[in-house]
Amino acid sequence: MAEIPVDVGMIYEGERIRKNQMHAELAGPKSKGAELFRVAGDDVVEDGKVTVVGPDVQELPEGQPTPFGVFIRAAGEKLEEDLEGVFERRMHYYFNYIQGFMHLNSRDTIWCRISKDAVKAGVTFEHIGAAVMDLFKKEYDVIEKMDVTFYTEDKAVDEFIEQARAVYEKRDARLRGMKDEDVDVFYGCVLCQSFAPEHMCTISPERISSCGSISWFDGRAAVKVDPKGSLIEIKKGEVLDPVKGEYAGVNELTEKKSGGAVNRVFLHSIFGHPHTSCGCFEAIAFYIPEVDGIGVVHRNFKGTTPFGIPFSTMAGQTGGGQQLEGFAGIAVEYIRSPKFFIADGGHERLVWLPKELKERFYNDLPESVRDKIATEEDATDLDALKAHLEKVGHPVVSRWQEQAPAAEEKAPAAAEAPAATVPEITMPLSGNPVAGGGITITFKNAKIYAEKVIIKRK
Ligand code: SF4
Repeated sequence: MAEIPVDVGMIYEGERIRKNQMHAELAGPKSKGAELFRVAGDDVVEDGKVTVVGPDVQELPEGQPTPFGVFIRAAGEKLEEDLEGVFERRMHYYFNYIQGFMHLNSRDTIWCRISKDAVKAGVTFEHIGAAVMDLFKKEYDVIEKMDVTFYTEDKAVDEFIEQARAVYEKRDARLRGMKDEDVDVFYGCVLCQSFAPEHMCTISPERISSCGSISWFDGRAAVKVDPKGSLIEIKKGEVLDPVKGEYAGVNELTEKKSGGAVNRVFLHSIFGHPHTSCGCFEAIAFYIPEVDGIGVVHRNFKGTTPFGIPFSTMAGQTGGGQQLEGFAGIAVEYIRSPKFFIADGGHERLVWLPKELKERFYNDLPESVRDKIATEEDATDLDALKAHLEKVGHPVVSRWQEQAPAAEEKAPAAAEAPAATVPEITMPLSGNPVAGGGITITFKNAKIYAEKVIIKRK
């Protein structure tokens, strides 16, 4: 193992660096950043080299968010470009193996912290880079050469983020046009079980992993090179529901890998048995009963959803590997999928998106809905959302009209928006995903009506 003044090992994987223990925060919600893993030519990669563009660890301003980029290049005769996404996801784990270094999320939503103790011990990016390269080479003998570049200088980080986003887009674009029906196997990923023990991502051509880092192609390449690794081939087996995306093979493996906690998964529905959510998801899809529609909020969105809560609060309630009806951790790329919650009405059920996402996916959204979806500029609360949808004639409004007569028969004086009937809701209350902990309240066969719910921070 490379010489480094702190310990390195799996035992540090779950290490959380809280604010008072933190020397520096890299990337994250208060700054910007990205990570990228590329397979490069043998003549390009300078084996073992660590480059730092901007201040090194010891020079980082204490307590302040710093822009941050990590770029790893690898070369090897048997290395394929298809493996980049899988190796990139591995970076999350190897960086976390370093005592005093915390890494969360993926791609251009990474959020890292370095502890005061690590800085006191004299850690530099040279140490961190050397340790990460060692870990990669020990696990994957297909990697023959590696180098790492760290960026902490503002302009260099901006340029790097742009470069990384172009690569993410190229990777994601490969899958467009491919259908779940075109293949006999999907892939399961259990990498996140270290913090979400009941979670397995199922990756199909039309449902990229929740972290957005692993596509169906990445899964295929990873299984080829490391058949006993964290990615597992899933034989689809009997198609139990082609619209919801329920497959016997997925159910069986999910049950096995979740220790029996989850035995049914609908890949393309937010209701009934939605996909479980670990904590690395790029975005959260959430059902809004008041308008009978679905909203999506992503990690980089700094405002509040129409529920009045930001992404971080919703993430604390959604993650941990649970199956939570009405909420699902997704990759933002899934918004583009033709199977986007198709069993629930697909894009025509999509009622709210942050402006950034709406602009990004505008051309991928059906014409019938693309100009009618609200953003934070149209609605930051439920009343405004409802008014906006009515004003623009969003397709979801016709659902209210269909449901209204039934509701009137039951309760003539009931509220205008349809009441949701939710057979079981599990609501974990953990607050901050960094802090962890919390309790779980489970309601079975309950109907809850409330004019207002106020949640107060203690
Ligand atoms: S979010 Fe899913 S695909 Fe991504 S690393 Fe975690 S388990 Fe694997």
